[in-house]
Amino acid sequence: MGKINDILSPFTAWKHVTKEPLTVKKPLEREGADRYRGFHKNEIDKCIGCGTCEDICQNAAIDLVPVDGVETKDGDSGLRPKIDYGRCCWCALCVDICTTNSL
Ligand code: SF4
Ligand code: SF4
Repeated sequence: MGKINDILSPFTAWKHVTKEPLTVKKPLEREGADRYRGFHKNEIDKCIGCGTCEDICQNAAIDLVPVDGVETKDGDSGLRPKIDYGRCCWCALCVDICTTNSL
């Protein structure tokens, strides 16, 4: 009995052949959900590398790192946030708390 099932069961998939697919044909062109906040974007010239975003992140997803072309100066640590999306849970606390509104 098991052998007949093994032979016939792949053909049961054909019953779906005329159904509309649930997947999106062009995922990059689909509209985002109303509350989707997307990936982080940091305006690097506006950011002052204060590290508040790093401190607030409960998932340790932010590291302040040196960036080519950004120098340390008065009021600017010269570091910029690097986000680890393996840790990030999209809570957006870092965005809400950003002292310069650059994130
Ligand atoms: S809180 Fe804002 S200004 Fe401060 S390091 Fe993070 S992104 Fe830059
Ligand atoms: S969105 Fe939340 S979890 Fe992700 S980096 Fe910002 S504070 Fe951390």
